Amino acid sequence: MTVRVPAKVNVQLSVGPVRDDGFHDLINVFHAVSIYDEVVAVEAGKITIRVEGTQADQVPLDEGNLAVRAAMALAKHAGRTYGADLLIRKSIPVAGGMAGGSADAAGALVACNELWGLGLPREDLMEIAADLGSDVPFALLGGTALGTGRGERLLPLETSGTFHWVFAFADGGLSTAKVYAECDLMRDATGTHVGWPQVDDTLVEALRTGDARTLGARLHNDLQPAAIMLRHSLVRTLETGRQLGALGSIVSGSGPTCAFLATDAAHARDLSISLSATCRTALPTTGPTPGATIL
Ligand code: ATP
Repeated sequence: MTVRVPAKVNVQLSVGPVRDDGFHDLINVFHAVSIYDEVVAVEAGKITIRVEGTQADQVPLDEGNLAVRAAMALAKHAGRTYGADLLIRKSIPVAGGMAGGSADAAGALVACNELWGLGLPREDLMEIAADLGSDVPFALLGGTALGTGRGERLLPLETSGTFHWVFAFADGGLSTAKVYAECDLMRDATGTHVGWPQVDDTLVEALRTGDARTLGARLHNDLQPAAIMLRHSLVRTLETGRQLGALGSIVSGSGPTCAFLATDAAHARDLSISLSATCRTALPTTGPTPGATIL
């Protein structure tokens, strides 16, 4: 059983004040893009995991792996002991702000649901996904969606046509927890008043009508200053994209991957070639794309 699952970029990520439970309320407009991990699940006596790909050595091979946790949570939900040999073919950058671990968890849920013949509907998988992490439900859903709360309450958003993106992968990752902590520190230090996050209606309308120029101008990520504080080289990457005519340049989620909106496929190709000089790899990509899909 092989499942293909997409990476995401947050075209709007607005972070509210810290809550009593330590989390932040978010307005999170997720957009799935055509960079995929594959999760392969094969019948076995217990749950095991292997990872292939250039950054495989940075991915845990135990219960710390979100795909393993997902398979265990699904077996628990079904009330039985099941096994599966899981193989992740990784293309989504690790700790790159593109929710690769969450994608693998979603892939494992779909793959094991099929492999074990459980036949659980997507709504049940969405509930298990929400317990695994706030980005996991979106990796199941795909497309473009508005996430509220910690990101786990999802409303699908309408889009028109295809948006052309370039993603610039950095060497080494950034810890999501550290980026949020840095964001809180920077806000405290500057005495910034943090209001309740609001949906950007202009951005939502640009997605609906396929207006890449407006979308590019409205891209917003409250975590970007913190990611830049922790990784100064991102300034140069973002600036290079702007100089090369990107309609918008933004740090993806908690970074350090940067996302650039291009005018069309040819522009995305040109941008990716020029950006390759400032980062590990730059890939032309499209969005939106479906969530976890059985191949
Ligand atoms: P997000 O954008 O959801 O905050 P991210 O894209 O920045 O996350 P991930 O690639 O999901 O980061 O990985 C974050 C950490 O989670 C990794 O450093 C790794 O230790 C751990 N991890 C657990 N399972 C996986 C997995 N299947 N793939 C990648 N990392 C995993």
